[in-house]
Amino acid sequence: MADNLQPLQEDDPRLFQMGDAYAFATYPVCGVVFTDEGAVAIDGPMAPATGRQWREFIETRVPVKFHILCEHHEDHTACCSVLGADTLVSSEITAFELARCASGSTDDMRQTLRGWGRNRFFSEELVEDYEVRRPDMTYAERLSFTLGGKDFVVVEAPGHTRGSSIVHALDDRVAFVADAVFPGTCAPPAQSCDPWAWFRTLGMLEALDVDWYVPGHGDPFDRSELDSTRKGLHTLVDSVRDWKRQGWSRERVMAEGDCFDRSLRKPYRGADDVPPGLKLIAPKIQAESLGAVYDYLDEHPAGSHRRHVDAEANYNEIFDQCSA
Ligand SMILES: [Zn+2]
Repeated sequence: MADNLQPLQEDDPRLFQMGDAYAFATYPVCGVVFTDEGAVAIDGPMAPATGRQWREFIETRVPVKFHILCEHHEDHTACCSVLGADTLVSSEITAFELARCASGSTDDMRQTLRGWGRNRFFSEELVEDYEVRRPDMTYAERLSFTLGGKDFVVVEAPGHTRGSSIVHALDDRVAFVADAVFPGTCAPPAQSCDPWAWFRTLGMLEALDVDWYVPGHGDPFDRSELDSTRKGLHTLVDSVRDWKRQGWSRERVMAEGDCFDRSLRKPYRGADDVPPGLKLIAPKIQAESLGAVYDYLDEHPAGSHRRHVDAEANYNEIFDQCSA
């Protein structure tokens, strides 16, 4: 049944229109901006059946010219091959990261789609045919372009992942921010995070002149919501810092720490599309998130001389060994 989904209707409650831009609040939330010369798609649905439905929704108007992939996590990358864009773009870091995880492997992604990523639109037939697609083009820092008279700026927005991107559709006054923002004050998933860069990214988002922000797992919101995200990130960092001050080891923080009160996460219209299996891996994601923050607490938020140091070779010892 799932591979024969009905065409997506304009009045589907999961669709939000913002000028020539749309957000589709499924799992994960994705976006598109229509121009006279083609569409710019931002991320895409995880389930291949929903991905096809979304592609059809776009292509009845114009072809998918650019597809911007905002991060390397499997829920966001699954759609890369399904949307069939002319050019698939990500940051350099995202392209590197996805090649190292399930997102980069057809076999692993098929397993993911049959496993934790399986939702109500699952189709074994589509998963059997599924192939991954890697980005055609990458950028670092910023990428700006014009399509059909509309201006776009893609910006590296490290935080939730080190390679995360956001897409600013200037003319339609929308910022597609993916997982840079989880609406609500719940501590966010941070298993691939750089928490210090995340605070800087939130500052950049606050400075944008937009009417709408479209997150990866929530309904579109306006600027007032950014405060809640900042609170959630403080909860995460402060909790781990407190446990660490009390002398907890990294292992103990990961095993016993819990600051993820999901009742603080805002409900959203795509909630029924969330794969039920996500609940099973959530505790592991949370533990990994605490571990990642634990490590960053050793580093000053302004950066650290320890990040890019020479290998710790003691050439005196090596010389002594060689000349002995
Ligand atoms: Zn993510």
